[in-house]
Amino acid sequence: MGSLVLEALTKRYGTSTAVERVDLEVPQGEMVALLGPSGCGKTTTLRMVAGFVPPSAGRVLIGGADVTRAPPHARNTGMVFQSYALFPHMTVADNVAFGLEMRRVNRADRERRVREALQLVRLDRLEDRLPRQLSGGQQQRVALARALVVNPAVFLLDEPLSNLDAKLRGEVRMEIRSLQQRLGLTTLIVTHDQEEALTMADRLVVMERGRVRQVGTAEELYERPADPFVAGFVGRCNLVEGELETPGGFRAASGALLPCLTAGAPAGRAILALRPEHVRIAPAADGPARLRAVTYLGAQTEYHVDLGGTPILAIRQTPGAEEPLRRLAIGDAVSVSWDASAARLLPVAQTDGQGA
Ligand code: ATP
Repeated sequence: MGSLVLEALTKRYGTSTAVERVDLEVPQGEMVALLGPSGCGKTTTLRMVAGFVPPSAGRVLIGGADVTRAPPHARNTGMVFQSYALFPHMTVADNVAFGLEMRRVNRADRERRVREALQLVRLDRLEDRLPRQLSGGQQQRVALARALVVNPAVFLLDEPLSNLDAKLRGEVRMEIRSLQQRLGLTTLIVTHDQEEALTMADRLVVMERGRVRQVGTAEELYERPADPFVAGFVGRCNLVEGELETPGGFRAASGALLPCLTAGAPAGRAILALRPEHVRIAPAADGPARLRAVTYLGAQTEYHVDLGGTPILAIRQTPGAEEPLRRLAIGDAVSVSWDASAARLLPVAQTDGQGA
């Protein structure tokens, strides 16, 4: 068992940088998700922790010990791969026992620990099967058992649910989380699926182009995003470019003056970030906005509105049959409003080469 610390961890391939000075501390028992778009460096970061990719610079510490140069089997990590990477010609039990053999655990202990690990993932009746005789969800559990059987100090998961269908994904997600909490496993999980990250992890690391953009709980990232990238990546967000004028207020590039709290914000270019659930709309014959599209989603309805050249998305609880919103038609004039406190001013995106 142990904590995981990454210090200025960096990976360069030739002249391109896959991971740039990533700092992160994962205390014992915490589950952290690396989240970000394809190619942002999540998998490379995880592989450097596992020891499959040698860092160009920086350090990896597990339980306080520097393992930056240690080979994978000497790191006490258990990893689950996206593809599961099971040995096709070996039974379930032999697949799970593999890591213990590598560590020269004696036969009696091996058998006991394999049995326990398979019980943990509820596969104890299938130990003599071959991987191809199992469903996708069962193969995934074998991969989990194989990673857990070595009692890893750090548990590493690389997109572990991406090969499962939506229903199974929800179930396995809860199982992994409950195992992780029950065993108190220090865990790093890579995903590009924000729902997966939000529901499973204690904290999230949002990455973009090799760099960490923000680290925080789901709530912190959603309610207090540090920049427009995080605001747009975690949940949905209206991001309106414009300028903060003093006196005056926030003027969108389209010319409209939009409500937001301006105290303390520097005048100049900025981006207004507004969650769509905070936007109210109402039919108004002389309203300044036009309804462009309506998407009915059952419990909620999305309204795409044009506010003097600025597109705004509002997400409201679907109105009842008698409510005025229900009678809105595309092209109708509407009023749009929100509390100034719901709109945050964010700095315009940093350009490449800044930071670090
Ligand atoms: P995905 O979600 O698509 O798996 P990711 O966030 O995990 O993406 P990485 O696989 O870590 O991203 O890749 C980060 C960057 O490093 C990418 O631009 C990728 O092309 C590059 N990269 C990864 N491995 C290598 C390699 N062996 N040689 C050269 N470039 C690489």
